[in-house]
Amino acid sequence: MIRPGKMLKQVLESVFKKPATTEYPLVKARMPDNFRGKIVFHPERCIGCRLCMKDCPSGAIEIRKVGEKKFECEIDLGKCIYCAQCVDSCLKKALEATREFELAVLDRKKLKVTYNAETGEVSKG
Ligand code: SF4
Ligand code: SF4
Repeated sequence: MIRPGKMLKQVLESVFKKPATTEYPLVKARMPDNFRGKIVFHPERCIGCRLCMKDCPSGAIEIRKVGEKKFECEIDLGKCIYCAQCVDSCLKKALEATREFELAVLDRKKLKVTYNAETGEVSKG
């Protein structure tokens, strides 16, 4: 059994210790460099080989040809399991795993994001 004197010492030590927890979401969480968050697409690098689609274990990514050497990319963030296999499979580094993890939305359709072939801009739903 813990003695009251010893317990008091531990309580007082805890009062002045830096907390082990963070104040998220008041303080933005910084994820490690190798974190596998939201996948983004760089259209200018894509050659349309579709290796990413072939290797994606959850069928979350689709590459569509929209013009001569122009490809757009749709990723369903609701299906994605953030394994970053597509990033590893892409020999042109056209896909990138970011540290973005705050992806919750109220409308599931908004989890489907399409990266424009020209600008890389994102449209949702
Ligand atoms: S993103 Fe990479 S792997 Fe996917 S089609 Fe484009 S070049 Fe190929
Ligand atoms: S991170 Fe994994 S699940 Fe998500 S699109 Fe890439 S390969 Fe598919």
